[in-house]
Amino acid sequence: MSQPYYHLITFGCQMNKSDSERMDTLFLRMGFLSTDDRNEADLILINTCSVRQSAEDRVFGLMRQVALLKEKNPNLLIGITGCMPGRDRTGVLRKKFPHVDFFFPISDLPQLPRWIGELHPEWVNSTDFSDDYLKIHPLPQGRKQAFVTIQTGCNKFCTYCVVPFSRGFEKNRPVQDILHEIHSLAADGCVEVTLLGQTVNSYRAPDPEHFSSTNPYQDHFAALLWEINQISGILRLHFTAPHPLHMSDETVDAMTLPTHVNFLHIPVQSGDNEVLRRMNRRYTREQFMEIIAYVRAKIPTIAIGTDIIVGFCGETEEQFEQTVDLYRHVRFDISYTAIYSPRTGTAAYRAFKDDVSREEKRRRWNVLQELMEQIVLENNQAYIGKKVSVLVERHEPSKITDELLTMPGNIREKLMSQPGTCIGNSREMKMVQFPGGKELVGKVVDVLVEEAKEWVLRGR
Ligand code: SF4
Repeated sequence: MSQPYYHLITFGCQMNKSDSERMDTLFLRMGFLSTDDRNEADLILINTCSVRQSAEDRVFGLMRQVALLKEKNPNLLIGITGCMPGRDRTGVLRKKFPHVDFFFPISDLPQLPRWIGELHPEWVNSTDFSDDYLKIHPLPQGRKQAFVTIQTGCNKFCTYCVVPFSRGFEKNRPVQDILHEIHSLAADGCVEVTLLGQTVNSYRAPDPEHFSSTNPYQDHFAALLWEINQISGILRLHFTAPHPLHMSDETVDAMTLPTHVNFLHIPVQSGDNEVLRRMNRRYTREQFMEIIAYVRAKIPTIAIGTDIIVGFCGETEEQFEQTVDLYRHVRFDISYTAIYSPRTGTAAYRAFKDDVSREEKRRRWNVLQELMEQIVLENNQAYIGKKVSVLVERHEPSKITDELLTMPGNIREKLMSQPGTCIGNSREMKMVQFPGGKELVGKVVDVLVEEAKEWVLRGR
């Protein structure tokens, strides 16, 4: 048989996207070819997200379509991995997918070649993979930016969250493996690395003997940041998502090292102490504000983002106003605000009532959204007249419009010879656009900001 085709569908967060890159490595090493057309696929693998009910509903909807493909082509193999199988302790979800051949948590990914080989031995070149799925590295593709998972799972058990169930307890990668992966990325031309973990700054190296003897930090996460700062070629480093509980002084100090971006994403979830307590977040509003004050004292120009949940069980209007008040104090540059959605299996689902109406949740979401847009616009205005350092990620050529084609020749030629627009992120994780040629893609350049909107800075 000619080489089989696989089609990979990814839902959810950056961690899932990074896991899907490992799946690509595995399939390509098995001898499969990738296809964007699910009609020509021999195997469809869906990498699922469970964070909200709507994310799981999308998988159920997709499965109805995939089941029709299997009716037409009984040889088609279908797999489901990611968060849904991870949290399916009782097998209830599995029963809802009768057409699925493989239903497995991501940690079992290295078993997939063997399972496929049992059904179609002629499809599989190699079943020789490490038992640890994190040792299956994404393939080098000459990319300038990469996500590197340093930790999976979580021990915090926030009462609303499925992650400790879907991904298990916190497990940290050896520092030697992480540094090896980043050295390879740098050798392949990567200049920006984002470290991923559910509570990334609680990182504890299982092999601390591999930290350099000259490393000045005792805190393992700070020490890891220092080690990555020593890797030639890596110009920008950041991480997501830290837990406020583990925001040590040493970590903040390591954020002042040269490669660290001028941005911190730190989830607060609520500005009210009673809500934080019921969420089991393990810090108070005051402690969170102290961390922000300490970070700003060390890095005064840093941009800060957060995650917030509105309409958590029992959240009163006054408690929500506490979140609005905290937002005004911190003046976040961005918030990923979620409307609370109960998840089966979590402590909040068992212990609390989802008693804030949909309309009220939506209203609270709108209040924070409007506040975010107002504050980020004010924050961004402060960049006008200043230089920001931008990693150019893409280039858009000048548009040839009908209007342009009707212009006098000399004006038309002048406009058409414009270099186009370069687009990338500043060290504050602000999108920046400026006129420039495509040869700048992948380079880090200084841009003088001349115009600031909510979600873009423009300059030259
Ligand atoms: S820290 Fe809380 S919200 Fe974050 S992954 Fe762990 S349990 Fe979920």
